[in-house]
Formats: sequence, C-alpha cells, structure tokens
Amino acid sequence: MQPLIPLDEARARLLDQLKVSAAVESVALDDANGRILAQDLVAHMNVPPKANSEMDGYALCEQDAVEGRVLTVSQRIPAGAVTQPHIAGSVARIFTGAELPDGADLVVMQENTERLDSGEVRILQTARAGENVRQAGLDIKQGEVVLKRGTRLTPAALGVCASIGIERVELYKPLRVALLSTGDELVEPGTALRAGQIYNSNRPMLLNLLRQAGFAPVDLGQVADNPDATLAALERAQAEADAILTMGGVSVGEEDHVKNAIQALGSLDLWRIKIRPGKPFAAGEVKGTPVFGLPGNPMSALVTFAMLARPCLMQIQGATYKPALRIPVPVGFDRNSQMRDEFVRVELHDGVAMRMASQSSGVLSSALNADGLLHLPSDLEIKKGQQFDFIPFCNLL
Ligand code: AMP
Ligand code: MG
Repeated sequence: MQPLIPLDEARARLLDQLKVSAAVESVALDDANGRILAQDLVAHMNVPPKANSEMDGYALCEQDAVEGRVLTVSQRIPAGAVTQPHIAGSVARIFTGAELPDGADLVVMQENTERLDSGEVRILQTARAGENVRQAGLDIKQGEVVLKRGTRLTPAALGVCASIGIERVELYKPLRVALLSTGDELVEPGTALRAGQIYNSNRPMLLNLLRQAGFAPVDLGQVADNPDATLAALERAQAEADAILTMGGVSVGEEDHVKNAIQALGSLDLWRIKIRPGKPFAAGEVKGTPVFGLPGNPMSALVTFAMLARPCLMQIQGATYKPALRIPVPVGFDRNSQMRDEFVRVELHDGVAMRMASQSSGVLSSALNADGLLHLPSDLEIKKGQQFDFIPFCNLL
C-alpha cells in the first residue's frame, strides 16, 4: 500500500509538472469575464489622465484659498469640458469629474463658499493644495503592469482594462475537458431504474463545475466497467480534448478499470490522499494528455475536484494558482483525533461552524445547505471553540 499523501504535497507535485497547453485568442473586453489573461497588461496612460475635481465647487490656487477672500469667477468647467489656463486671483466654477485648469491646485467644495449677489464667491474656509483633487495617475500610473498573465478576469478587472483604453485582450482558450462517468450501475435521469441501478449524479455536477470554472467540457457519457470500454473511452477522450476527467472506477478493486487503462495508454500516479472525503485520486497522462481520476462517491468527487483537479486544470489553461480563500472560524463541536485531514461540510451560525448532519462521502444532499468546508487537520483532538480554516463554497467551486 502507498502511504497517504498530504493534500498540499500532492497538489504541489502536480502543479510542478503541469504545463500550460491552452491556445491563445483575442477577445473583445465585454466577452472576457471569467477568462484567463494570456498577456501582461501594461498601462499606456495615467488614470485619471489629468488632475480632476472630486467635488462640485471652485478650483483655485492655494495662495487665494484663504478664509474671507472674495474672488471673481473666471470660467465654468463641467465634466468633459476643455479648460482655459487658470487666472490667479480668481476661481473657476468646477463640477465633479471635471479637469482642473492648469495653474489651479485645489478645489473648495461649494458648501464652503458663499455666492454673492455681485456674482463673486467668498471663501469660507482656508484650503491646502491638493484638497478635493484626484491627481493624474492616482488610480493607475503609466507604465504600471495592471494585470498579470494568468489572472482570471473579474468584472472589476474589465473595468480597469477599460479605464486604460483597452478594447480587446489576449486570452487563453477554454480548455476542452473530456468527462467520463464510469460504472455499470449508472443510469441517466429520464430512464426508470432497474434493480441495482442508481442515477448518475456526478455527471451534471462535474459538467457544471467545469463550466463554472470556465472550461469547455466535452461530455463523453458513460463507460461500462470493463477494460475494453475503458480503453476505448480514454482513447476517444484523448483525441477530442486537452485534458480528461474521469469519475469512479479508480480504486483498486477488480471492477475498477481506469487505473489499468491509464497505465496501458500512458502513465499513472494513483494516490491515497490524506483527506476525507477524497480517497482515492489518480493523476497521469494518456498519450501526453493529462488525466485526473476522481473517486465515484459524489462528495469525494466534489472535494477532490475542488482541491486537486480544478487547480491543475486551471494551470493547464494558463491560470496562476491561487489558493482558495480560508477564513479562521470557531468550531461548534468536538472531534476525536483522525488519521486524515477532514473537509467537513459546515453551516455558519453567528460565525460558528456547525457540522451538517451527515458527513458520509456518499451523501451529496448535505452539501446543499452547507456554506462551505471546514478544514480539520489530522492527528489532533479538536475542542469546541478552537479556530480552524473555513473555505466558503462560493470561493472554492
Ligand atoms: P467507485 O469509485 O466507482 O468505486 O464508486 C464509489 C461509489 O460511488 C459507488 O457507490 C458508486 O456507485 C458511486 N458512484 C460512482 N460514480 C457515480 C456517479 N457518476 N454518480 C453517482 N454515484 C456514483
Ligand atoms: Mg465504479
């Protein structure tokens, strides 16, 4: 028997070997959300390009911005307008987002002024240079690398791209990931179950986990539990996709054929990862195409996908690995020492992690109301009130 491998070690070993294989394409900014950047983006301008006003008020120079001073209004500058050079000893009427005229160095907000019947303006509060001004380059400086290759674009990132005038971006193409469900017991919903059968619940779960992560899944359906069918399915997957994800059949029983088939067509690492749920997990290659074999139990499939397969697939697609967000939270229960790290389905009650009723790896329904997974380390007796890392599902999947 192989020893149990800690999760972090297994993931690091895999990430170390895997190379980016996704092709690159140019995409309009509006269509780039969730995609992986294939270029460093450098700002060719300052944002904002010139100093502008943070307030509705009056732009002037520091030497004139003295309490009690009465000044004439020399120009009016709404947002988007072209300015005239500032005349010392006057104020310019200015609005939020309008460029400061050359020579003015601050804005007095209109609440701190008084408009006289003469049309002049009295300054009610002394102000300092820079007050209420957004300086050129405050947000982004020309020459700065704004986003690095391997970044997953978010709506905020798209906003930043637009702010520096970027219209199209170079992105990695979504990785084609072949999905294989193994198991003679599996039936798709829509067909009545016969004795011994269950519905294939992993297929729609993994298909949509893949879609959600930005991959292009290629659903190759079910594979019968025999060597020939497994070999044929892997060969087809290898021909049609950039990476392969199998579910079930990866253990060491005589009805598990994935392991031998991968070995026959390529090479295999079969690991007993030191986590629960989540044993066993396989990684390898078929004629150079990376393969990840998830366990058949639905909760094990979910956890190993999130913790191992997804980060690996992301890296093959060009993304820089970023560990899932972890938040220390107090535990609302005791636990005996365990041989493996546990990822416990929990719900947060007033910030305290409460265990869902069933933690069986075959029970998927207890993931429904869970907020995420609580990582409880192995070989440690855990007492209520101690803090451990909580990983929200919204960040993990
Ligand atoms: P296996 O990894 O093939 O030994 O399967 C472990 C357990 O997970 C067995 O109880 C299988 O029936 C179940 N299982 C395997 N694949 C699926 C699937 N696609 N959907 C639901 N359950 C599955
Ligand atoms: Mg099976």
